[in-house]
Amino acid sequence: MHASLITMDKCCDGKGCKRSYHLACLDPPLGEIPPGIWHCMLCVKKKTELGVHAVSEGVESIWDTREVELPSAEGVQKQKQYFVKYKGLAHVHNHWIPESQLLLEAPSLVAKFNRKNQVIRYKLEWTVPHRLLQKRLLMPTKQSDGYYTGRAGDIPDCLYEWLVKWRGLGYEHATWELENASFLNSSEAQSLIREYENRRRKARSASDPSITDKVLS
Ligand SMILES: [Zn+2]
Ligand SMILES: [Zn+2]
Repeated sequence: MHASLITMDKCCDGKGCKRSYHLACLDPPLGEIPPGIWHCMLCVKKKTELGVHAVSEGVESIWDTREVELPSAEGVQKQKQYFVKYKGLAHVHNHWIPESQLLLEAPSLVAKFNRKNQVIRYKLEWTVPHRLLQKRLLMPTKQSDGYYTGRAGDIPDCLYEWLVKWRGLGYEHATWELENASFLNSSEAQSLIREYENRRRKARSASDPSITDKVLS
């Protein structure tokens, strides 16, 4: 069931990963290529253990700048900071980082940002979930993979990921987010989850199993 029938591949967007998978061979399998950024299970595991920034290739773009006053030995010291977006991560994971650090990580981005007239186009709504498109189980259905052997016995605190479409951004910017993320626990997000489950329930009861079988064979 490998080979010629399966022609579509999905390449992982995780840092240093570049693994390519047949959609049908994934566990759980993917029926079609999902929109937006996608991480394989190995990268998702890294994400749950080390945080989402562990799977990013680094700073992608600068969206804002500010000056903050920090207490220091000589009293108060001013520090210039930039608001940065990371490759492969949604805007909700943006950080303010000091200029000194960013000059080491991405000097050309700093130069480019400061050359331009610095019109701030950033919108806070980009960090608000607009619609939940898909849900995926993080634990493979085949337990032989030993996915959670490192934490045998304890129940992982995060069982699902949601494919989130963000407010004001297109589907190509959709990202998979761990269900325990704070922004998925707001009352607005909880109602999006209920909406998703209702849609799924309706779709299941409306679909004719004989038609589904024909499509799959
Ligand atoms: Zn395969
Ligand atoms: Zn990966």
